[in-house]
Amino acid sequence: MITQVKPVSPEAIAEAARLIASGELVGMPTETVYGLGANALDEAAVKKIFEAKGRPGDNPLIVHVSCLAEIPPLVREIPESAKRLMEAFWPGPMTLILPKSDKIPSAVSAGLDTVGIRLPASEAARALIAASGCPIAAPSANRSGKPSPTTAQHVFEDMDGRISMILDGGASEVGVESSVIDATGEVPVILRPGGITPEMVEKVLGDVRVDEHVMSPLAEGDIVRSPGMKYKHYAPKAKTVIYDGAAEEVIRAICSRYDAAEAAGEKPAILGFDEHDFGNRTRISLGSVRRPQEAAARLFGALRELDERGETVALCEAVEATGIGLAVMNRMGRAAGFDIERV
Ligand code: AMP
Ligand code: MG
Repeated sequence: MITQVKPVSPEAIAEAARLIASGELVGMPTETVYGLGANALDEAAVKKIFEAKGRPGDNPLIVHVSCLAEIPPLVREIPESAKRLMEAFWPGPMTLILPKSDKIPSAVSAGLDTVGIRLPASEAARALIAASGCPIAAPSANRSGKPSPTTAQHVFEDMDGRISMILDGGASEVGVESSVIDATGEVPVILRPGGITPEMVEKVLGDVRVDEHVMSPLAEGDIVRSPGMKYKHYAPKAKTVIYDGAAEEVIRAICSRYDAAEAAGEKPAILGFDEHDFGNRTRISLGSVRRPQEAAARLFGALRELDERGETVALCEAVEATGIGLAVMNRMGRAAGFDIERV
């Protein structure tokens, strides 16, 4: 199969929509990361997503809609708290877990009684969904186990020969996957942190919980409410360690570990902030220390770069785990197997 990459245009969107409507897969831009889209109501099409990604069948997909009116047939009810979150944060980087209707094939929800729904902010994504005439199930468009793609090039690297088209909408603005929020209970629970932060949810609903697995590795036998958390995502080949503490201490500890690794014949690299001085050691930038949204936008690209360059040790600066920083630390933590040195 030839994989075409086409910049977003009305013609390219129309072509991608025809592919989706005929049961094919399309790599599509969204504001979070690139998605691998299929008609969410077509079980055979949805199964192709799992095949192309090498994704375990018990990891459910998020269903994307182009407007609120498309949601009622997909769910059994919309709790009041979910309505308030929709009003506050849609279109945007937030997925809501809702009780699913019979229209959603069980391949989408991985057998669960619920479905994740998202109304994306990306205009190209919404135009594609609207033109396809169906909701689009779309997980991140990476091969399973690789960092989520934040450019069309990343999608091409992972999906060349597996899908017929990738819509190129430029680099994803947010850079980490959507916040997944279960708003079916009394207190909303953030199952996966993202661009819509706990602080933002709390302002709207007055209360919020963050699932305990967001900042810790899973123990044997743990039951997870968000199946994706079971899987070791985003792990680069390099042995990855995070350093957390006061900036000067972190820089000192990273430099000393870097030099020791190099002396031992390793190929170390630093994921660090622009303002910090690491001498002439190899550094992949996480942007400005004052703007954690830059670390969010760059992290997945940085993890891919580590592998491309054949680095064997990755030393990462932590960010404060508040606001979007929680999403950064969740993804970085999982890349490092939550190996965090407090200095
Ligand atoms: P991805 O599309 O790759 O960002 O993965 C979607 C993630 O959303 C999954 O790995 C799950 O963790 C989460 N998710 C999707 N649907 C549900 C659901 N019904 N209940 C809980 N979590 C879900
Ligand atoms: Mg994913």
